[in-house]
Amino acid sequence: MDSIALRTRFLLAETARLAAAHGRAADAVTLIGVSKTHPAGSILEAVDAGLRHVGESYVQEALDKIASLPGLPVVWHFVGRLQANKTAAVAANFDWVHAVDRLRIAERLNGQRPAGKAPLQCCIEVNLSGEQSKGGVSPEELPALASAMAALPRLQLRGLMALPAPTEDPALQREPFARLRGLLESLRGEHPQLDTLSMGMSGDMDAAIAEGATLVRIGTALFGPRVPRQALPGSEHE
Ligand SMILES: *Cc1c(COP(=O)(O)O)cnc(C)c1O
Repeated sequence: MDSIALRTRFLLAETARLAAAHGRAADAVTLIGVSKTHPAGSILEAVDAGLRHVGESYVQEALDKIASLPGLPVVWHFVGRLQANKTAAVAANFDWVHAVDRLRIAERLNGQRPAGKAPLQCCIEVNLSGEQSKGGVSPEELPALASAMAALPRLQLRGLMALPAPTEDPALQREPFARLRGLLESLRGEHPQLDTLSMGMSGDMDAAIAEGATLVRIGTALFGPRVPRQALPGSEHE
């Protein structure tokens, strides 16, 4: 499958097929095409083929693309790590933020979300491996952050996101996704409105859907290999 349009159609069908294969509703899983490092023209090709959710990870690169695609009928997801000095731009230009991992970021997003827009849809990133270098809150810190965020009126806390260390063994892939699902289930005792598990990328989509993913974030399998960032004109390192 050598075009973005063909891969988009395949992945839209494949997410529905995998959901049904794992005993879930065929529309239980939403495909997010993660287009970081790829040009705006690639996003257009995917949208023409039916993609409705687009993910980006680098703020400046994303703002340039969003500005060059006015009125595109898509939901924009910020899936990268977010620095405090970039929250205003994200609050103004995106519909979702997937990797909130501290209250300071959540409070800034809440204060900066423009009044005319719906509340910003947010997930908390959970660090399942315990590695200090990785983003995300620990499972122990999760309930306090969830309660604090649920009280912020311009945010709507939707669920959890994780980025487990890559492995090719499907059985090993499922284990961290199962843990994230368990954490969401416990949080739902206090926050029954939570309905989102953002998990699964090109290499582990099947395992994530088997464990209950509702949003899968697919880059390489849809847009092809990423362009090294230093080769992108105007790319800003964040
Ligand atoms: C780049 C990225 C993806 C997509 O990864 P692929 O392996 O290319 O599918 C998903 N999630 C996040 C947070 C990313 O930064």
